Amino acid sequence: MTFEGYDLVVVGSGLFGLTIAERTATELDKRVLVLERRDHHGGNAYSEVDPDTGIEVHRYGPHIFHTSNERIWAYVNRFTAFTGYRHKAFTLYQGQVYPLPVNLATICQFFGRYLTPDEARALIAEQAAEIGQLPPDPSHEEKGISLVGRPLYDAFFRGYTAKQWQTDPKELPGSVIARLPVRFDFNNRYFNDTYEGLPVDGYTAWLSRMAADPRIDLRLNTDFFELADAIPDGTPVVYTGPLDRYFRYRGGRLGWRTLDFEREVAPVRDYQGTTTINYAEESVPFTRNVEYRHMHPERSYRSDRTVLVREYSRSAGDQDEPYYPINTAGDRDALRTYRMLARQETAERNVLFGGRLGTYQYLDMHMAIGSALAMFENRIVPYFRDRRP
Ligand code: UDP
Repeated sequence: MTFEGYDLVVVGSGLFGLTIAERTATELDKRVLVLERRDHHGGNAYSEVDPDTGIEVHRYGPHIFHTSNERIWAYVNRFTAFTGYRHKAFTLYQGQVYPLPVNLATICQFFGRYLTPDEARALIAEQAAEIGQLPPDPSHEEKGISLVGRPLYDAFFRGYTAKQWQTDPKELPGSVIARLPVRFDFNNRYFNDTYEGLPVDGYTAWLSRMAADPRIDLRLNTDFFELADAIPDGTPVVYTGPLDRYFRYRGGRLGWRTLDFEREVAPVRDYQGTTTINYAEESVPFTRNVEYRHMHPERSYRSDRTVLVREYSRSAGDQDEPYYPINTAGDRDALRTYRMLARQETAERNVLFGGRLGTYQYLDMHMAIGSALAMFENRIVPYFRDRRP
């Protein structure tokens, strides 16, 4: 097999790879080959219709689109409209359900009395005082306690984080917990962003439209490493697979967490009353239970049954799907080596690295798209412009 006649090869068809492919094909009128190891495109945003209930399920865990960036929002709206879904989540702790992210309702409920915003702020500040001045690179624990104080951290974050990461929270970066807002009002929306929603006719329809241009050739079930030699020398490559795998692990393994999903169809219309319930306690082996019908009430009402997916987190082995970069100090050392190797590979062979796996970053969907748009403008457009005869 040879791959003559392509102007660009993209390895991986997740949101990063699809954005690069779509822009390069339609804006620059180039032929793009997209290689995908899995039997479907779309990376972890892929979704499918559950055969028993007809409810859309996200195969790799819940994905809710949100962004405050006008350009990214305009870009994604070329391919899909979005519903008005606003994500809310709850956590179960000692038989009580509390709203997440931590907000005034969570704080009042936890301490058993109404507190004004100022009283709540003062109480949390007192409970966070042990941390003092945060170091420049705080750990999960330092950052968490500084945000919500020790009692709330111990209740809602310690056990959940132990299950999700199985890593001492002193070793995890503070950025992981900084993903969640903390609010001193009763706003219990999960995300702070201006725009939020779910693709009206599903993720797969959206992702298929991104790959639909005839100048894009998408090859599924195709492992780049098995045919790298068939790609003509000098063809630029955008690689979005695991960074350490590209370099044959010569800088050590980058640590990832993987998820196991346990699906259950329950013979009720509504099992838990909301999309996501987290289980804060370590004694419950799964981290959260997701009831997908609540993501699309406008269509899921047709089903008398409901589908639930429980998530179990564990360390990823070679054969597992990598989901979350662990990012311990050891990982960060290895990452420095890989970044240097990646820079050399870019200079010598025209290989660019991007996406969650290709840069070892905990990227949300809008971040993957935003960084692909930036790579397109800063690297791909100049590359083709400079080559014009
Ligand atoms: N987290 C927690 N308890 C919760 C929810 C989140 O301790 O009930 C912490 C945990 O460390 C987690 C991080 O906050 O890894 C980020 O959570 P998020 O919901 O953003 O994770 P995702 O939805 O990406 O799995």
